[in-house]
Amino acid sequence: MTFEELKLTRQFIRAVEQAGYNAPTPIQEKAIPPIRSGQDVIGIAQTGTGKTAAFLLPTLQKLKYPQGMEPRAVVLAPTKELVLQIHEQAERFAQFTELRCLALYGGIGYKKQLEAVQAGQDLLIATPGRFLEIYQRGGFNPKKITTVVLDEADRMMDMGFMPQLRLVQELVPSKRQNLLFSATFPERVQRLADEFLLWPTRVEATPQSTPVATVQQFSAALPNVATKLHFVKYLLTERYPEARAMVFVREKDQAELISRGLADALKGQVRSIHSNKGQNSRIHAMDLFREGAIRCLVSTDVASRGIDVPETSLVINFSVPRDPHDYVHRIGRTGRAFRDGEAFTLVDPSEGYALERIVELTQTPIAPFDVPAELPVEETPRWEKQAQARTIDGEMRKRDPNYKGAFHEKKKKTAKRPVKKGNRPPKAKRG
Ligand code: AMP
Repeated sequence: MTFEELKLTRQFIRAVEQAGYNAPTPIQEKAIPPIRSGQDVIGIAQTGTGKTAAFLLPTLQKLKYPQGMEPRAVVLAPTKELVLQIHEQAERFAQFTELRCLALYGGIGYKKQLEAVQAGQDLLIATPGRFLEIYQRGGFNPKKITTVVLDEADRMMDMGFMPQLRLVQELVPSKRQNLLFSATFPERVQRLADEFLLWPTRVEATPQSTPVATVQQFSAALPNVATKLHFVKYLLTERYPEARAMVFVREKDQAELISRGLADALKGQVRSIHSNKGQNSRIHAMDLFREGAIRCLVSTDVASRGIDVPETSLVINFSVPRDPHDYVHRIGRTGRAFRDGEAFTLVDPSEGYALERIVELTQTPIAPFDVPAELPVEETPRWEKQAQARTIDGEMRKRDPNYKGAFHEKKKKTAKRPVKKGNRPPKAKRG
């Protein structure tokens, strides 16, 4: 199929040609016709499938040309990074039109954004919170909004945006077109769809929870964090000395530690992104990574969700994600825009269960990788052993409610001993 057959008008055909797209992706083929005909649409699509263009192209085409001062369409997305990325694509697709697109997101003062909205816009791309704030400060009249897009709806639900989304729904006219895009479709997204959409048409890019087919997946058994760090250095300096890699960690403190731990081996070409970092520093790190000025980005799930970095060829899961859906999202960073990629998941003795859950969900084998014999193996410090034992206990108890944890008894015996310095676990924070 071609973009002409999808009945895109000349300005948009030119824009996709200039973006280097030869043909529509499957989600574009499936979603663009019902969106063009004005239906409500649910799109189940991971990042990397071309879903952004699938909703932006027909939405921009419907807006056609600038009209009045008030926005007529809004795309809501969970994070600033995603808002900026969608905005960048919108600007690209609208370049041969006069349409005005504006990004609204928090983390910086609202004044400039308020003025920009008041200057007249056609399409707003916003986080729900900032959208409401700009409205409450008198930025715009929402009564002209006839298209509402909810992107990454599953993550918006995870992040607790339901109350804001309900408020948005009350503001915008009830006669409107609604589009909802989500990588997964759990019950809470179904409920959101029931509240927001009317007789939606459902289209799906790939079956739910299938990792991108071009990604080769490996797991490596390693005893502890310190040895995992050696292995990451080995991957990045010896096995894939050219690759651009994203390293995923569970907690923001760990992102910082690992990024520092890799700095020497990578000659400084590494940055970390997590929720403690300022907005500008995160965007700057991502730009450096895209341009190739740095080779490695260490990130938490929250910070990375929805980031589109087609240049990534290697994904390293420093720890096994507890939610198997996060795994699918993480390895979705690579293999994007149809490139080949590799994903390594580093597994300590307590993480085997989490890995099993992933294989169960994805129904794809993850090949065990033979760790090179010369890799230095560090001893596991006591705090880490205890943390691992606690995780194993928790997993065993989940499987068998009558299970009496081995760790419990040990804990009683050792509880009175003072904790030696250096044996303290690092504080754990998500984000
Ligand atoms: P998305 O799934 O929207 O995050 O898009 C993933 C990547 O695919 C982005 O870099 C897009 O620019 C790119 N892309 C979207 N549609 C196409 C297409 N039809 N042909 C080639 N690349 C595309």
